Amino acid sequence: MSTNRTPRRRAGLALAAALTAVAAFTAPVSQAAPATVQKPSPGAPGLGDPMFPLDGNGGYAIDRYYLDFDWQAPKTPFGATTTIKAHATQALSRFNLDFGGNTLHSVTVNGAPATTSRSGDELTVTPKSPLAKGSSFTVKVAYTADPTQTRHRDDAIEDYGWIPTPDGTVVYPQPNGARLIFPGSDHPSQRAPITFRITTPGDRTAVANGRLVSRTERPDGRVRWTYDSEQPLSTQLVQLAVGKFTVVESEGPGGLPLRDVVPDALVEPTAAYRSLTPDHLQWLQERLGPYPFDRYGILVGDTDLGVALETQTLSLVPKADLLGTKVDAERNMVHELTHQWFGDSVALKSWSDLWVSEGHARFYDRLYSEQHGGENFEALMKAAYKAHDQWRRDYGAPAEPTEPNLFKRMRYDGSALVLYALREQVGDATFQKIERAWVSGFKGRTAGTQDFIDLASKVAGQDLEGFLRPWLYGAKTPPMPGHPDWVVDPAT
Ligand SMILES: [Zn+2]
Repeated sequence: MSTNRTPRRRAGLALAAALTAVAAFTAPVSQAAPATVQKPSPGAPGLGDPMFPLDGNGGYAIDRYYLDFDWQAPKTPFGATTTIKAHATQALSRFNLDFGGNTLHSVTVNGAPATTSRSGDELTVTPKSPLAKGSSFTVKVAYTADPTQTRHRDDAIEDYGWIPTPDGTVVYPQPNGARLIFPGSDHPSQRAPITFRITTPGDRTAVANGRLVSRTERPDGRVRWTYDSEQPLSTQLVQLAVGKFTVVESEGPGGLPLRDVVPDALVEPTAAYRSLTPDHLQWLQERLGPYPFDRYGILVGDTDLGVALETQTLSLVPKADLLGTKVDAERNMVHELTHQWFGDSVALKSWSDLWVSEGHARFYDRLYSEQHGGENFEALMKAAYKAHDQWRRDYGAPAEPTEPNLFKRMRYDGSALVLYALREQVGDATFQKIERAWVSGFKGRTAGTQDFIDLASKVAGQDLEGFLRPWLYGAKTPPMPGHPDWVVDPAT
């Protein structure tokens, strides 16, 4: 955490201070800096998230990423450059990027070589000259990317980072694996648009979040693919994939462009389930209002990955999810699609707010499933209620996860149960109003647990603080409104 004691960084600071002094000395008297000009100081190495305090960075905000990948072959290192356009929110002597693994070659700030040091996942960059508060700047990081880097969690996530496939790669950045792919501000509250420029051999297709801007064949036979994310996104929701893909284009409700990205051999076997996306969109839009982005689609992962991921506008769904039963396939597809509203369009303020996005995704995937041949929704909620004290003890209350228990069942079934309780408390009509107010009011923004409590109270016209707080933070599960006969098993 306190990584600012290396001699190199001290040298950087001293240099920055010296340069400031020189600048002040040589400025003509009439242009002397006003007294309010801030003295440059280091940007914070992290945002202080309760679970991942060093994730994200302080002192600046990112306006856009440009990711250049010169992709070569599966599991093969390749040349990469990340260019970040940012603006300083304080006078900066130095700042940090989240970056893990890979081989760093050089960093420039506004074209001038910068001093760097690395410690854990923190890359500290000391520009040649300090950056004034409010000033725009450009950081360019050149590195060799290692597309075999993964990390592991002992919860629902399992392996994350780069996920190799037989003929290419997909990525699974959640929760904080984007730093293995590119340097940046790797926290869900930090959103910026991304331009992807991926060069591949001529027999591969590259895809990424958002819109294909251009596909250019080069004289050497390689192809350059440019994508624009269109909307800003959190790093944990980045998708970029390379493989022998067929891009299957169609239309959803209202002419929404749909594009599924499917390994060639899986196009036909997954076609029937993939064709259900328009129905899922229709069903969710009836409940939540308009789909929040300009396009959608499924990237079929040719991997043994156990879980799907709501990568923005292009959900990663492992092939096994689309080769089993219809009920299972639809439940998974609706889950990831629901996240486009909850977690993607309305982003997490902190990791403690994960219950909002996973709770909603689970709530709607089960509700849909019940109406389409799956299990009874109320029976599932009753079972979750029974286990809730045990989950509180093992995994923390819904809005009080601990780092190792972040993606455990409490954030899924246990948090869907909180929404079920809210619906029982305020009635279905008011609950739907709360849901719509949330996704429309916070569209394209970040929001947290307190925002949800405040909004629910406002829409319902009653103070729900006293109702929701014990559900979200208490050690004991409160009584379920409307179900006095429901019982909680004691935690053991
Ligand atoms: Zn989910």
